[in-house]
Amino acid sequence: MGQLTILGSGYAIPEEGHDNTHLYIQQGNHGVLVDCASNPIVQLRRASIDLDQVTDLILTHFHPDHVSGVPLLLMDLWLLGRKSPLHIYGLPHTIDRAQAMMNLYDWKKWPHFFPVMYNRLPEQEMGVVISSPDLKIYSSPVKHLIPTIGLRVEFIPEEKTLAYSCDTEPCPQVAKLATKVNVLIHEATGAGLGHSSALQAAQIARQAEAEQLILIHYSIQSAAETLASAREIFPGSLQLAEDFMKLSF
Ligand SMILES: [Zn+2]
Repeated sequence: MGQLTILGSGYAIPEEGHDNTHLYIQQGNHGVLVDCASNPIVQLRRASIDLDQVTDLILTHFHPDHVSGVPLLLMDLWLLGRKSPLHIYGLPHTIDRAQAMMNLYDWKKWPHFFPVMYNRLPEQEMGVVISSPDLKIYSSPVKHLIPTIGLRVEFIPEEKTLAYSCDTEPCPQVAKLATKVNVLIHEATGAGLGHSSALQAAQIARQAEAEQLILIHYSIQSAAETLASAREIFPGSLQLAEDFMKLSF
């Protein structure tokens, strides 16, 4: 059975109980962290996730609220004695900067570091990120301030699907990623350059015929009105993401 854990549900400014948005997907032998904010080890442990099960890290884009935890995650896994490889995925724009960030720490000189494999994803719609018999993850470029990807996750034996918009203005690429998914996780920072309001997220969810919509990357001050406006548009199940919320697939 596949499982999604919301490790953070907040927008760029984290709030008490609402860390920066990042997610964790477990399916079979794959443990996939999607973005890596603030204190990744603390959040993963609080969510009772075995750190040795984390096999992959997808970086959606190079904004601090999505990648600033990468050096700390890598250092802490190393200090904890990790030996198994970690695969890191992202667009060339993201991976180039993630590598440059790690190089500033001179991490190549740290002895006996576990293998870290960087994978540059093509800037194309429905590019394959991970493909295994029980899990497929696709990425498409979305409409944010810098190159950014949204994701579609297929839990194959369960025939269940999940999409994640990441940070984006409403765009057809997300509607396509989310076509008839069981769950769409869509950002709801607010209408404006590079972001979406809850209402716009609901329009995309309706267009994609998603079964369930979960709003993420929101400010708790605006959460209630956010939800009310989205409900007017989207007829399906709708809720706000909360830190440590778990969904089974
Ligand atoms: Zn962003």
